[in-house]
Amino acid sequence: MKKNIRNYDLNDLKQEMIQIGQKPFRAEQIFKWLNQEKVSSFDEMTNLSLELREQLAENYTIGNFQIEHKLISKDGTKKYLFNLCDAEENLIETVLMQYHHGYTICVSSQIGCKMGCKFCASTGIPFVRNLEPGEITQQIIAIERDENIRISNIVFMGIGEPLDNFENVMKAIEIMNNPKGLNIGARHISISTSGIVPKIYELADRQMQCTLSISLHSSNNQTRSSMMPVNNAYPIEELIKACQYYIEKTNKRISFEYALAKENNDNIEDAKELAKLLKGMLAHVNLIPINQIEDGKFTKSTNENIMKFRDYLNEKGIVATIRRELGSDINAACGQLRRQNLSKR
Ligand code: SAH
Repeated sequence: MKKNIRNYDLNDLKQEMIQIGQKPFRAEQIFKWLNQEKVSSFDEMTNLSLELREQLAENYTIGNFQIEHKLISKDGTKKYLFNLCDAEENLIETVLMQYHHGYTICVSSQIGCKMGCKFCASTGIPFVRNLEPGEITQQIIAIERDENIRISNIVFMGIGEPLDNFENVMKAIEIMNNPKGLNIGARHISISTSGIVPKIYELADRQMQCTLSISLHSSNNQTRSSMMPVNNAYPIEELIKACQYYIEKTNKRISFEYALAKENNDNIEDAKELAKLLKGMLAHVNLIPINQIEDGKFTKSTNENIMKFRDYLNEKGIVATIRRELGSDINAACGQLRRQNLSKR
């Protein structure tokens, strides 16, 4: 089977070129065509000889994303459902958000997810496979092309658990970071995880300069396990230990995501427990009104409760902010569009 040429970082691509009898500098030209000129065919790589272009087309694919759906929210958020074209059900979602400091996209890392979080739209529909590095970066490229914009920030908060597809995500980040590639600094990339502890240690040891977000959602093992089965494998104490190690190694602040659900994790008692857990840590808490999914048992907390929760944390010296909800009119929460589309079939 032909390999997707987008999967290679610059060094790998140089090796590939040598293997097919080409000069390594060709790799740099191709890498720029893919990531900076954003071409979608080998034919467009006009500084390569016709012969080389044909050789590339014989040996590699260039990815074939199709926009299955594009939804535009009243607030300007745009949501893409991409068809990867290798199988009919291979759909992923990518969301484009505009903030005052530029464009952010929320990328998917897998087709489906194995984590089984009870509040998430990806639960209950099949996990298909990991995304390849080039399928991660192509989400950025396809949207930059479609909208004629430059994206400055990436968050791994789409479908999938990025740390469950570790090597491919790391490779995609290398392609993003490379000044000859997408040229997006690590500081502008966030990885969000449900809490795969061994991989957090690995990130720390690699001195990744990305922002790490932890989907905490509760500071109590019983509640957290009832929301997120991953907590049975890696309970809160172990997760926090890994986070402390990460902070020590990288000197970077960790962002804790906390989706508030009515009468589930939104009491003042919960806030107290959370403040105790994060006391003294280089951390920031992002409070999110939980997005209710179809037949989901979790409903949004009231604004009043959310503000009380935030104020309590702030009083205790924990930096907490309420995340603005974007795209709620277009099902922008992770996995909702794929879920709808698959269930219609
Ligand atoms: N698997 C990774 C990244 C994808 S989910 C993770 O768990 O972090 C991105 C974020 O959206 C996570 O914080 C996740 O907990 C949150 N999320 C998923 N479904 C949600 C919902 N219905 N309402 C609010 N947040 C949700």
